[in-house]
Amino acid sequence: MTFTTLGLSDVTLKAVAEVGYTEPTSIQKQAIPPILEGRDVVGIAQTGTGKTAGFTLPMIDILASGRAKARMPRSLILAPTRELAAQIGENFVKYGKYHKLSMALLIGGESLPEQKRLLNHGVDVLIATPGRMMDLFERGLVIMNDIKVLVIDEADRMLDMGFIPDVKKIISWIKCRHQTLLFSATMDREIKDLAEQFMTFPKEIFVNPPSSAASTIKHTLIYTHEASEKRHILKELLDKEDVQNAMIFCNKKKDVETLFNILKKYKLPAAALHGDMSQYARSDTIEAFKKGDVKLLVCSDVAARGLDLPDVSHVFNYDAPFKSEDYVHRIGRTGRAGKEGKAFTLVTDIDFKVLDAIEELLKKSIPLSMDFGFPEDFAPRRAESRKNKYKLPHQNPNKRKPPAAKIKLAEAPKPKKDIASKADKASKKAKDKSPKKQESAFGDYTPAFFKIKI
Ligand code: AMP
Repeated sequence: MTFTTLGLSDVTLKAVAEVGYTEPTSIQKQAIPPILEGRDVVGIAQTGTGKTAGFTLPMIDILASGRAKARMPRSLILAPTRELAAQIGENFVKYGKYHKLSMALLIGGESLPEQKRLLNHGVDVLIATPGRMMDLFERGLVIMNDIKVLVIDEADRMLDMGFIPDVKKIISWIKCRHQTLLFSATMDREIKDLAEQFMTFPKEIFVNPPSSAASTIKHTLIYTHEASEKRHILKELLDKEDVQNAMIFCNKKKDVETLFNILKKYKLPAAALHGDMSQYARSDTIEAFKKGDVKLLVCSDVAARGLDLPDVSHVFNYDAPFKSEDYVHRIGRTGRAGKEGKAFTLVTDIDFKVLDAIEELLKKSIPLSMDFGFPEDFAPRRAESRKNKYKLPHQNPNKRKPPAAKIKLAEAPKPKKDIASKADKASKKAKDKSPKKQESAFGDYTPAFFKIKI
């Protein structure tokens, strides 16, 4: 099947062809025709399925005729994170190159006067995070009387971030008739309610259930007793694995920063990505990672979610995720397009419950590494923990000491300056190719990925 059968205009098809897509993805095949017909659509799809083009392409054609009035956007796209909003914006630029649609991004961290100026000028496509949208609407800078299409993207992530009440409020401000498109990786009760409350006979589309992980990914579990031992294990892994580039996931922003500081201290080409960083620092970091100046991206789920980042050779779950679906999202960063990828997950006793959920979702168990951590204790402790309904087993007083790292990783000093400036500096450092940078904290040994950079 080609794009030509979907009902898109010739100019939009031309832009698509120039991007190099030959065949629509499943969600595009299913979503584009009903959107062009003016129907409401609920798409159960995760990132990586081509869902962004699935709604931007038909929207470009829907909005092609007509003119935007001052402060009255003709469409509104709500996205949970600034990065996702920016990425949607890039899609409009790419596919809309033969149209004259005006666009504004209302996201925190960007210049407010510039956003006001664009709004006053009139925009066809308004892409916003809920917080900034509420702010500007309440100041009277946006009037929602001319919205033709409303998109709620990554509704499940909005739910996780506590944005659903804001989203409901924003929708309630739209008084004119409009078409609503909702995309979500999962269909939680709250999202179903949202759809029922605000949508009219939506066409429901399902693609790629989140349990589908690429078969080219080699999953490995590493069991250790204490969270404090994980840094040594990561260090060993980075020493031994042929890491080209990697995403290292932590569950908390604070831990992203701590781990980033540890890697930075050892002059590894690492950068941090989390929600507390300034928009500038986040964009800069993403760019450096895309270019290959940064090889190790220490990140949180929220910051990394939905980003069109390059394929990575390794994913390290420094912390096992809180939710099993996040495991699938995280490891989906590797093993793309038939390439081989490796995903290592470091677990302690507190992760047994989510580990059961992950294995249930994957419909297979994750092989345990016999080379790292304390593999011999894994099965008995997991069994004990299940018996106690996932309560922590008693600590073993005779517990072995963690394996001595070749070079001891010290606790990084507490950050003194604000996160944004640190992250800015980090990405600048990553770009700095002076020979001094090669003096490695790995002693005589230099990991493979480090050699590539130099
Ligand atoms: P998304 O799920 O929207 O984040 O898209 C994931 C990736 O798929 C992006 O890099 C898109 O550029 C790419 N993509 C979208 N549509 C197609 C298509 N029809 N053929 C090939 N790649 C696509």
